[in-house]
Amino acid sequence: MTETNSILIKDTTVISEETKKASILIVDDTIQEISNSLTDDDAEKVIDGTNKITMPGLINTHSHVAMTLLRGVGDDQSLQTWLNDYIWPKEANLNEELVYLGSKLAMAEMIKTGTTTFNDMYFYVEETAKAVDESGMRAVLGYGMIDLFDEEKMKSELKVSEQLIKNCHNTCDNRITVAVTPHAPNTCSEELLIKSKHLAEKNNLKLHIHVSETKAEVETIAKDKGRTPFMYLDDIGVLDSDTIAAHGVWPTHDEMNILKEKEVSISHNPSSNMKLASGIAPINEYLKNEINVGIGTDGVSSNNNLDMFSEMKLTALLQKVNLLDPQVLPTKDTFKMATENGAKALGINSGVIQEGKLADLILVDTLVPHMVPIRNALTNIIYSSLGTDVDTTICNGKILYENKQLKTINEQEIIQEVSERAFEL
Ligand SMILES: [Zn+2]
Repeated sequence: MTETNSILIKDTTVISEETKKASILIVDDTIQEISNSLTDDDAEKVIDGTNKITMPGLINTHSHVAMTLLRGVGDDQSLQTWLNDYIWPKEANLNEELVYLGSKLAMAEMIKTGTTTFNDMYFYVEETAKAVDESGMRAVLGYGMIDLFDEEKMKSELKVSEQLIKNCHNTCDNRITVAVTPHAPNTCSEELLIKSKHLAEKNNLKLHIHVSETKAEVETIAKDKGRTPFMYLDDIGVLDSDTIAAHGVWPTHDEMNILKEKEVSISHNPSSNMKLASGIAPINEYLKNEINVGIGTDGVSSNNNLDMFSEMKLTALLQKVNLLDPQVLPTKDTFKMATENGAKALGINSGVIQEGKLADLILVDTLVPHMVPIRNALTNIIYSSLGTDVDTTICNGKILYENKQLKTINEQEIIQEVSERAFEL
């Protein structure tokens, strides 16, 4: 990792709330100054930003990063079959070392495709935390609690979450925060959901949960609880501005009002929703109701990669074709979802390039055939660019990737290890 304390990104095209030419000065972990009068003498390290677009690091608001180990498992199945017959039997064989390796591989992929922050829910989370520590990324990490309505299991799941909070919350220069993450309303008992919320409140943490992902889930909750999933969660006190609900594909009109009133954030996962044929989330409706929506990749075996550039494009195109209206989800709204809205959902002071914000940003190469000409830099980012166009990734003021070289992860070594070890599952 580069140990310089100040970095100047010189003469670059900045895309944030607006697009402009400027230079950016980073000091320690913060964006200190954005102007056209900065010179090479202002920083220890100078990055030439000519022919590059500089933008906020992308924020993945829903992931299970160690699932890189399960890339290619259970393709082309419905959510319930995919989980029961393919994913859960393999996850039963997970161990600390494999989760560490899978997480590390995911971080190599994320850093190379411009993601600086991810919001994760999985198992053996301290191993993912170790990989975050080493990679230099920023993450919100939670232990995916599933009790399947068993009281003893509920108690032991909560204990794991409590231990994780003790060991990992606000560690690694505050790059890691912990969230409480009960898996979903149809895999967790009512008591576990209520106790999860209490645990989150007691420690001032976010609560991250899958909700209203499939029609089958909505039907199960309606049968068991007499209400739709968001209604049920609201009745038991789970929903507020610290809740991040992944998916939200099937909200009713009344649920939409509750989400707005309680200021819940939604994580939209277009690839996963399409691949598992879960449905099309009403993103345009959410945004019209001023509900905060971020974008996520979900786990790799329902995607099958962690490239947030493709998620941005799919987010926009899916709404347009679903509503037969090309004007919905204009580029600035899609961009905001993957950056500023994600930061808001996770409670992180980033997501825009502004003085005083955390220095989480990326440089995208524009000297590639599919990015030329640049009539509108933002349009090229949403519709033309690929994650592999990212040239430099900076997180917390540290360079993690420069000139397409990873600085904190040995790429060849992790590729080789996961290629061999993933089959132990
Ligand atoms: Zn998920």
